[in-house]
Amino acid sequence: MVSRVIPVDPFDLVIFGGTGDLARRKILPGLYRRFFDGQMPDEARIIGAARSEMDEAGYRDFVRDAIKEFSGKRNDPNMVSAFLEKLSYVAVDATGTDGWKDLAKTMRADVVKAYYFSVGPSLFGAIAERLHKYKIADDAARIVVEKPFGHDRESARALNATLAEHFDETQIYRIDHYLGKETVQNLMAVRFGNMLFEPLWNAQYVDHIQITVAETVGVGGRGEYYDRSGAMRDMVQNHLMQLLCLTAMEPPSKYDPDAVRDEKLKVIRALEPVEHSEIVRGQYKSKSESYLKDVENPESLTESYVAMKIRIANWRWNGTPFYLRTGKKMKARVSEIVVRFKEPPHSIFEEDTGQSANELTIRLQPNEGMDLTVTIKEPGPGGMRLIDVPLDMTFAEALGEEAADVPDAYERLIMDVIRGNQTLFMRGDEVEAAWAWTDPIIDGWTEREDRPFPYEPGSTGPEEALILMHRDGRRWRELRA
Ligand code: NAP
Repeated sequence: MVSRVIPVDPFDLVIFGGTGDLARRKILPGLYRRFFDGQMPDEARIIGAARSEMDEAGYRDFVRDAIKEFSGKRNDPNMVSAFLEKLSYVAVDATGTDGWKDLAKTMRADVVKAYYFSVGPSLFGAIAERLHKYKIADDAARIVVEKPFGHDRESARALNATLAEHFDETQIYRIDHYLGKETVQNLMAVRFGNMLFEPLWNAQYVDHIQITVAETVGVGGRGEYYDRSGAMRDMVQNHLMQLLCLTAMEPPSKYDPDAVRDEKLKVIRALEPVEHSEIVRGQYKSKSESYLKDVENPESLTESYVAMKIRIANWRWNGTPFYLRTGKKMKARVSEIVVRFKEPPHSIFEEDTGQSANELTIRLQPNEGMDLTVTIKEPGPGGMRLIDVPLDMTFAEALGEEAADVPDAYERLIMDVIRGNQTLFMRGDEVEAAWAWTDPIIDGWTEREDRPFPYEPGSTGPEEALILMHRDGRRWRELRA
């Protein structure tokens, strides 16, 4: 297979928070993998920035360890040493004056400049302001902003306004790493690169759509942060909303940042308010472990699980609900979109199994790929019996292990920043619109002091979420790892 990777210009990439967890686990190993695959220009440089005093050798040791732990099979000592040559470190205080002049001196002219804000959101404004004040960022510089982008619409709007004081929207890259996943982009390829699906992709032929992001882990060490967010803010407002948009949007006129983001925004604006009775919240709880213990807050009303029925008020989707669910401590780690088509209007077969609805599943994890169930005749003599079989396209099987060894979402997105391609990043108005839809739901819970339903760790979530589907004569797809 011939690889047609778009070349990347020489760059200086500053990682604020270069000693943090995200930099260690994702950003730095991801950059190394791009280097290993020959997709980083010779003139590329990466500059770690954080408050800790550290010399260049110390930072390179830190990065060496991170690569060893998180870069998989590409960990080759010679390649690692060559990569580390590209690294330097500057001690900078985001909220003070220390280090900023040093950073300014470190930056080169005539290269792409990118600044990754891998720090808590409370520092975004201070860093943006100082990049401007110390003339570190030019008009072509790009800033990369991590989630969470705001806590509600008001705070997202304030953050947008602060960033806009120093940077144009075309310079701001708001990361949602789900958009960097291979399968998510494949969703667009499948919908808009084939004639097969798009004519059926509407309320006339689609019964309903399910979007699931289930994790087996609990809140881990992020208890305090998580308890202030919950599944709705942490997952639905961003990741699930992005998946919903890409599934539901109209075909953009071209694969271009604003054309795609305009269509996503129209979907968010067409979402109907969710009825109280069509949303279920849960908290994991058993004798030995519980959400309340994990977040060290016995009074917490925050959800570690949420499921809901969503309606999109437009011609394409009128009458076809979208069911979303996400939770922690679930039975399996699964992220998928299931498009369930309607049953044929009339069966000509006597021995009808009653299971003849096609299902297209787009799996983000595990085993990235897609499958489509089709109804066929059960092989063998003895009449016309029908069975549903999957046409499975697991990328690793269909394309070979090597072709399926695709870049991690972060690698792809960082390289898109350097290329100046914003298609897979959220625009400011999109984020605000998503909060505008989320806020009243959360406000309703707060006002009513709603208590989430308990669910067993390792289960599929609260009973009430099953009932949400059963009421409509439907059921969730089984959670299978
Ligand atoms: P973290 O482990 O707490 O790291 C924070 C980084 O910021 C450290 O390098 C810290 O170094 C630096 N820092 C803190 N205060 C600073 C200041 N005043 N000036 C300069 N540097 C400062 O956090 P993280 O987990 O990497 O998360 C970073 C961001 O990514 C957050 O917005 C988080 O929500 C987001 N995020 C993280 C993950 C993840 O898996 N970790 C996933 C999605 C999004 P010093 O203490 O040395 O200054």
